[in-house]
Formats: sequence, C-alpha cells, structure tokens
Amino acid sequence: MRLLEEKICKEGKVYEGNVLKVDSFLNHQMDVDFLCQLGQEFYRLYADCGVNKILTIEASGIGIACLTAQFFHCPVVFAKKSRTLNLSSKLWTSKVHSYTHNTDHDVVVSKKYLGESDRVLIIDDFLANGSALNALIDLCNQSGATVVGAGIVIEKAYQEGGKSLRSKGVRVESLARVVSMDPEKGIKFC
Ligand code: 5GP
Repeated sequence: MRLLEEKICKEGKVYEGNVLKVDSFLNHQMDVDFLCQLGQEFYRLYADCGVNKILTIEASGIGIACLTAQFFHCPVVFAKKSRTLNLSSKLWTSKVHSYTHNTDHDVVVSKKYLGESDRVLIIDDFLANGSALNALIDLCNQSGATVVGAGIVIEKAYQEGGKSLRSKGVRVESLARVVSMDPEKGIKFC
C-alpha cells in the first residue's frame, strides 16, 4: 500500500537490533484517520470471507484491530500476555517469544470468547519471525475456530515468519513488506 510505505519512509526510524519504530502513527501515538484507511484495506481484502471475529495480541495490535473491526462489524478479542503459569481449564493458552523484548511468555484467551463458530481474521502490527502469529493460530486451532487469514500492517519480509506461514497454507496479507532496512541506507519495500 503506497500510502503506508510513504508514511513509513517519512516517519519510521530504524534502530540497531533490526527494529523499526513507527511510534508517530502506530505504536505509541495513533493516527486514527490513517489507521482507519488500513482497516478499510483489510476489509477490502477479506470482505467475502465471512469473518465474525478479529483476534490480536496485546498491546500493540489492539488499536489497528479495533479500527479494522468497525468495517467488519464484529468483536475484537485480544490474547492477553501472562507471566504466570496458566493451568485454568477456562483458558486457551499458547507461548510467544517476544521479538522486541527477547523474552518468552504465555498468551491466553478465555474459552468464552473463542470457539468453533468463529471465523477469525488475525490482525497484528508487525510480522517478523512469526512467533506472535503462530501463537494466535495455535489458540484458534485449540478452540476449533477457523482462521481465514492474517492482516499485517508491516511485514519484515526478509525474516522467516511470512514465508513459513504461507508455505503452511495460511493466507497472510501485509500492507507493507520491507525487504531491507538500515539506519543509514533507509527502508526498501518489495
Ligand atoms: P514475530 O513474533 O513475528 O517475530 O514479531 C512480531 C511481534 O513483535 C509484533 O507483535 C510486534 O509487536 C513486534 N515486532 C517485531 N518486529 C518489530 C519491529 O521492527 N518494530 C516494532 N515496533 N515491533 C516489532
């Protein structure tokens, strides 16, 4: 999506450790009008898939998930991060390795909010190695929900996540796909 690529080039900052910061419009301050346009694009891509639930992960996916859900007129469920062991029979639980913090933690969703009747669109801000997306898919699989696909704002296409998920047959639609980024040379897209 050209508009998004331009915004990333203008406002994004590349940090050591392979992290792109887009705090001015997505990850800290949120440009709601702009993010609505991204939500509308996810709607265009998945409009005919019978989506009745959007699933994301706290915290950074929640804003874009809600702005997308207003077009689908469906609820958003966010997987909660948990540092304590969860053995409750009332929760679906999976493990995530955090790309930005380099730590592992559980993510949980109440069984009340994810189940067999759900056709789920997974939304997240970034796709890197795919740990977050794999955990969300795992939660859906445990619950019997159908994953219709994933909508990602920024995919770092030179990392393995996107390739690996697509090779397993998961539909992954990314609005911007970064092929390379460097603090000096800048950001290039597919
Ligand atoms: P993955 O699980 O695919 O390795 O990483 C995706 C998750 O890590 C996203 O939910 C996102 O919050 C975070 N993430 C990965 N790479 C970046 C990045 O370059 N910038 C920011 N801001 N977050 C990232």
